[in-house]
Amino acid sequence: MHILVPGPIARLVPLQKNGWFVFSYVKTEDQNKIAGGLSGLVKGIMMFLFSQKGFNLAVGMRLPCGKDQHFFVKFPLLCALQDEKAIKAFNNTKRSAGWKCCHDCKNIMNTKPSKLENDDYLHHYALAVPSQFDRHTTETFYEMVDVLAEVHGKIPTGKFELLEKAYGVSHRPDGILLEKTLRRHYSIIDHTYWDPMHMLLSSGGVAQYEINAFVLAILGVELPGPDGTCVPVTLEALDAFGQQVVFSDKRRLPKTFFSKEDCFNQG
Ligand SMILES: [Zn+2]
Repeated sequence: MHILVPGPIARLVPLQKNGWFVFSYVKTEDQNKIAGGLSGLVKGIMMFLFSQKGFNLAVGMRLPCGKDQHFFVKFPLLCALQDEKAIKAFNNTKRSAGWKCCHDCKNIMNTKPSKLENDDYLHHYALAVPSQFDRHTTETFYEMVDVLAEVHGKIPTGKFELLEKAYGVSHRPDGILLEKTLRRHYSIIDHTYWDPMHMLLSSGGVAQYEINAFVLAILGVELPGPDGTCVPVTLEALDAFGQQVVFSDKRRLPKTFFSKEDCFNQG
């Protein structure tokens, strides 16, 4: 799990405008000993670095630079690079455990698609298209956080847990979300940088769905073969094509990469 926070400069070089700033390296087992876990840990570090009373990276400081010279350095937080697990642990979002799995959207749901069939506003995450996304703003997201804090202990536990699921946010008094002095410096909505390696390419990423949909779309389409006659695209033909592709480390796709995949076969 990692959190990288980029600020205007990473090294103290006067002419450098932007860079990455590693907040801290802490063992996961040690994070868990801190009240609020990762969220509480980063909250604590941020409250020190963005203090209300004195030292504040967003306000900046004057530093010496050679004889009788100074330069001014400021580190306002521009974005936070996190993988999915870190986003959840840092921001106390529910992700796949909630009915809303995406913190960016108000209306993209994690439930059975059949439950949403007749709904014009709510959409299933696997079926929604970007024009249907109703996006949160920083204000609407933290409104949910504040409602949870407000009603906690005043409504039955079962109802409260349903509300957390519906919002896709957990109520954690020790977490960063309820630290209002930090909201001007960090917001999950404004500062989340979707790490492309995790979000697009790795096992939970969307690239595999795109490739899957593309393969399903071209299956059966007739293309000119080597002798000029038209032949339909088959999984076997894709495998034959795949065998011609050699990766830089000399590996190839498995011989039946496409034809053994159930999702392609079921259509
Ligand atoms: Zn979304």
